[in-house]
Amino acid sequence: MNIILLGPPGAGKGTQAKRLVDERNMVQLSTGDMLRAARTSGTEMGKKVAEVMDRGDLVTDEIVIGLIREQLESGQSGGGYIFDGFPRTLAQADALAALMDELGQTLDAAIELQVNDEVLVERIVGRAREAAAAGEPVRADDNEESLKIRLMAYYKQTSPLIGYYYAKGDLKTVDGLASMDEVAASIARVLA
Ligand code: ADP
Repeated sequence: MNIILLGPPGAGKGTQAKRLVDERNMVQLSTGDMLRAARTSGTEMGKKVAEVMDRGDLVTDEIVIGLIREQLESGQSGGGYIFDGFPRTLAQADALAALMDELGQTLDAAIELQVNDEVLVERIVGRAREAAAAGEPVRADDNEESLKIRLMAYYKQTSPLIGYYYAKGDLKTVDGLASMDEVAASIARVLA
């Protein structure tokens, strides 16, 4: 099973992906994590990426598609891939379809975690507050200014993917406002 987790920032994609890794030996491909690793590399590309991410905008399709291609070509799929935070644009969705085709793999479902905007803002601002209180590093894009831009990027560039995967017959929607365990159970039903 190869799946996409779809939803706005703060919808819980990362949390659910980590559970699937632990429980089903799936492989999480998070472009956000890959980009956070790239930004600390000290390269010119890393610096550019850092600037764009901190602002809350999307980095170029070329960069993220390159990162995913690298992983898919070299990687082991284990119990299947979880695409987390990718694709985020229609161009990325088309590129992913082509890549999977090339590799003889299929995409089984795009799972939308449905939430509402107030909850997202609360979750993300809360995440930043908790990290700060615990003396942990706070993500540079977890502030209200960047959050607005991230939400706008989601609505303008990523939300059309819901229609895209619906039209392909791959869309499954789960209630992302439910408890973590309930969301995990809904995802398990999709995977069954
Ligand atoms: P969140 O889950 O909170 O939205 P992510 O960790 O997925 O955050 O992504 C953080 C940032 O990394 C995004 O705001 C964007 O700048 C960049 N990014 C991650 N994935 C992509 C992608 N597929 N395309 C373009 N930019 C991306």
